[in-house]
Amino acid sequence: MIKQHKKIVIAHRGASGYLPEHTLAAKAMAYAMGADYLEQDLVMTRDKKIIVLHDHHLDAVTNVKDIFPDRHRKDGRYYVIDFTLAEIQTLSVSERFHWKDGKKIAVFPNRFPLGKSDFKIHTFEDEIELVQGLNTSTGRNVGIYPEIKSPAFHKSEGQDISRAVLKVLKAYGYSRKSDRVYLQCFDPVELKHIHDDLLPEMGMDLKLVQLLEYTKEYMPFLSQKGMKDLAKFADGIGPDKDMLVLTQSSPGALQITPLVKAAHDAGLEIHPYTFRREKEIIPAYAKSYADLLDIFFFQVGVDGVFTDFTDLTVNFLKEKNKGIPTK
Ligand code: CA
Repeated sequence: MIKQHKKIVIAHRGASGYLPEHTLAAKAMAYAMGADYLEQDLVMTRDKKIIVLHDHHLDAVTNVKDIFPDRHRKDGRYYVIDFTLAEIQTLSVSERFHWKDGKKIAVFPNRFPLGKSDFKIHTFEDEIELVQGLNTSTGRNVGIYPEIKSPAFHKSEGQDISRAVLKVLKAYGYSRKSDRVYLQCFDPVELKHIHDDLLPEMGMDLKLVQLLEYTKEYMPFLSQKGMKDLAKFADGIGPDKDMLVLTQSSPGALQITPLVKAAHDAGLEIHPYTFRREKEIIPAYAKSYADLLDIFFFQVGVDGVFTDFTDLTVNFLKEKNKGIPTK
């Protein structure tokens, strides 16, 4: 029996279609746009603080190269774990970029301009306090959707990031499955460890989401048996959307993969990533961003989506629900 849930909108790194990802400004905007959950990617600093940043490197979204030119490792990268929180908070955050001929090139050129205004990196606690503060001042109950990044890397640096994240969650009152939090991770060994060992040890029980990438390591999980095994420790999956609808689908002839049914049959919720409105990245089988949402929410039947465009997604669901009587 498939559980029926209200379809949810997860603000992927905040309102990242409009403001630099993972800044408090992007989070406040996504909150105001009506997100059900705000996403946090979490990495650890040298002084063991948990910060909200997508990579365990600093170089793709900050000016670290200008401020601390010599602090890279042999591979040329600047690692969060090599910097204290105080050092990291001296950096400016911008839209995601890559380097070309000595120049910064924005990954999404039509989004917030590079190098404008002044944005900073904040801690996980700062962001929870923003969400909980807004929940108080608005009377809404928006959730959080934290992701533990690179647990194996953190372990190799002598740090247990999962335990540190759980401590923060518990301190802020997130400790039951009924609380407004989903905890996500790409590493199935770590997620199982969280479920089997850490949560019981800490007197907690949270909704867990196994993220899935379209790579061969994840293939064994995609069968009916794989989903049943995952359901022993996870409550949901967060797959790449291309794992649900094949990109070679054409309009009106969608190739929906067996993963959808396998996950739902196993009782898992499905929250695919990442929904973006930029025309050049909308798959050929969808006519528009709204059509893409229609396909995933109502033909594939997913339970929620990660989106850079909370406003468009919330409005789409509102329009769709008009005229449908609610209990
Ligand atoms: Ca993430």
